[in-house]
Amino acid sequence: MGSCAAHAAASRGASVLLLERFDLLHHLGSSHGESRTIRDAYAKAHYPPMVRLARRLWGDAQADAGYRVLTPSPNLCLGPRSNARLLAAVRNAGAGEVDDVGERWGCVFRVPDGWVTAVSEIGGGVLNATKALAMFHTLAVKKGAVVRDNTEVVGIVKKEGEDGVRVVTSKGEEFHGAKCIVTVGAWASKLVKSVAFMELPIQPVQKTTMYWKIKPGREHELTAEAGFPTFSSYGDTFVYSTPSLEFPGLIKINDDSGSPCDPDSRDWGSGAASAAERVARWIQEFMPGHVETAGGPVIRQSCMCAMTPDKDFVIDFLGGEFGQDVVLGAGFSCHGFKMGPAVGMILAEMAIDGEARTAVEAGVELHHFKINRFEGNPAGNTNKD
Ligand SMILES: Cc1cc2nc3c(=O)[nH]c(=O)nc-3n(C[C@H](O)[C@H](O)[C@H](O)COP(=O)(O)OP(=O)(O)OC[C@H]3O[C@@H](n4cnc5c(N)ncnc54)[C@H](O)[C@@H]3O)c2cc1C
Repeated sequence: MGSCAAHAAASRGASVLLLERFDLLHHLGSSHGESRTIRDAYAKAHYPPMVRLARRLWGDAQADAGYRVLTPSPNLCLGPRSNARLLAAVRNAGAGEVDDVGERWGCVFRVPDGWVTAVSEIGGGVLNATKALAMFHTLAVKKGAVVRDNTEVVGIVKKEGEDGVRVVTSKGEEFHGAKCIVTVGAWASKLVKSVAFMELPIQPVQKTTMYWKIKPGREHELTAEAGFPTFSSYGDTFVYSTPSLEFPGLIKINDDSGSPCDPDSRDWGSGAASAAERVARWIQEFMPGHVETAGGPVIRQSCMCAMTPDKDFVIDFLGGEFGQDVVLGAGFSCHGFKMGPAVGMILAEMAIDGEARTAVEAGVELHHFKINRFEGNPAGNTNKD
């Protein structure tokens, strides 16, 4: 989000300094790895307009960079017809129900009676995450941004009689700017508490990404090249997948479980074994004969998500003594990557213009992302995305 915001602000002609605590492209936060899904299928109707804006901006960035980070693929939603979230996601995506899903992809899926299967043919795909980050760093620098990694921000302060904001690093350096955009992922609650004494209910959660071996002879059927979809299965276990792409012969299939963690002292694996067992059972039941489950996943990668109680993002001015000088983008709740360029543009416009005009014109309803929705109800509600 920070890299996209830096690019968006620099593209507007602002002088931009992007500070990153670790090495660029590190694996310690939320945005590393080879793949993220982009899809319109959201149960909450306020997300598809943001996805559409983001998709346009992904296209613009790719055109600027001269290479692709988005591989198009269809998106399949499946699950029991009684699942209200599934039906809403299908409706909001404008996805078409299909009867032949069993046959369409080489009889890969075994779909129980009473299940819905719906496919969005266009607009979905797989984003290469780390490559996309590198692309936005490069584009931001090309537009004049300065990028400093291995620089940890420990303070954000307003000085009396001075306009703007000062940012203080762990090495004691101070940078002064008219505005500051804060996008620190799983560290958001900690940093906001220390600079603004505000408790935000954003919980860091660690998750494990799993890659499974495809059975010999079946490899091509499950590739993006062969038209295999990204999919989400809304049964008892919520399972999602991207087609075989980044590791030939392997496919990413995960559930949405995770365990709360402290981003500075996580154990990198709790809950991974039971998640692998649940996903293996799901594969055996609904995708039999195509993926090896006996030995478990062959690659596991740890990643963190910053969860809000309602799984809606936080995109707002920090307020208090900072007023509109500090803009916060946080709590992307394990579904933010696809929105990166849209969020970056929103944050940059809020910082520069005081309002996110491009997003509003694109139909994005920003009131869902306000900090004050947590007031008096810090646990929020628990509606899923
Ligand atoms: C397993 C998994 C699967 C996912 N799948 C999808 C998907 O399919 N589709 C989708 O759209 N989204 C998906 N997501 C969610 C998406 O990846 C995140 O919402 C998104 O990457 C969040 O980005 P961020 O910029 O908020 O956090 P980060 O990428 O973690 O960025 C925050 C940065 O701030 C830095 N930082 C922290 N503290 C400081 C400090 N004090 N000073 C300076 N720098 C600091 C960190 O080092 C980090 O680089 C998934 C996430 C996970 C973990």
